Amino acid sequence: MPNGLIMKALAGYYYVYDKGTIIQCRARGVFRKQKRSPLVGDHVEYQAENTTDGYIMDIQERSNELVRPPIANVDQAFLLFSVKEPDFSAALLDRFLVHIERQEILPIIIVTKMDLLTDDEKETIQSFVSLYEKIGYQVRYTSSKVELDFSELTPLIKDKVTVIAGQSGVGKSSLLNLLKPGMNLETNEISSHLGRGKHTTRHVELIEIEQGLIADTPGFSSLDFEQMEQEDLRFYFPEFVEAMDECKFRGCLHDKEPGCGVKRGLEEGEIQQSRYTNYLQFLEEVKSQKRRY
Ligand code: GDP
Ligand code: ZN
Repeated sequence: MPNGLIMKALAGYYYVYDKGTIIQCRARGVFRKQKRSPLVGDHVEYQAENTTDGYIMDIQERSNELVRPPIANVDQAFLLFSVKEPDFSAALLDRFLVHIERQEILPIIIVTKMDLLTDDEKETIQSFVSLYEKIGYQVRYTSSKVELDFSELTPLIKDKVTVIAGQSGVGKSSLLNLLKPGMNLETNEISSHLGRGKHTTRHVELIEIEQGLIADTPGFSSLDFEQMEQEDLRFYFPEFVEAMDECKFRGCLHDKEPGCGVKRGLEEGEIQQSRYTNYLQFLEEVKSQKRRY
């Protein structure tokens, strides 16, 4: 049976890409009974006599799946943070990283609007962000206003499925429009114009850019710790996972426990104070979420 990749889902149809052709398909009825439905990003088997009347017959196992936007098999997230307007926030960066790590997606930190900084300010931000490179995260710096140095990003996109994440105003649409001139991110205005509520499922589409695929709708819009277990949070801080071998207790949450490898790492400067502080803050949030249920 032929197979392809769902590029777009709209009004009950799935648009399956297979060797240069898009085939419009419906989902086989059996998916409804099984309470599962195809998602953009799914690799599927399909049957079609022509390009408009296909059927999706089977869905291959997913490596991950996001809820907002609904998309499967995401390889990486470009996590955009501006240096100004809005100001850079380490707490928010760590929060995004936790959510991305949790989905087993590779985060790539992109620091935007570098043109708004003086040389001294640039140095300050770069020395702070280099702490994240030490942890193992990839970092890129961009500015869309002065020079078009997004060319650095294009090799990262090749052969990957990428979502773009970051708070409002950091430059997500600007980045997409630069990567693919003429493409416009769907905005909330359009959604309300069509009479759809903000929380209904939004249309999402994979766009081919530089031999890779990018979701046209930003990801990770919800950043609370709903349904997270307090024991799981520590695994989303990669540098803690290394230090954890030294913890005296196997279930150590690196909080008040004695003989903690993470706290030792902190004292020895291997682990950054701001990362640890944010971890404890998130841990409290996870605990209080649990108490509510
Ligand atoms: P989004 O909300 O994340 O999609 O952000 P936008 O792409 O809409 O950008 C928000 C504002 O920041 C717009 O006014 C952009 O022109 C501006 N902007 C985006 N990138 C840069 C940049 O690199 N430098 C400067 N100075 N402004 C930028
Ligand atoms: Zn510990």
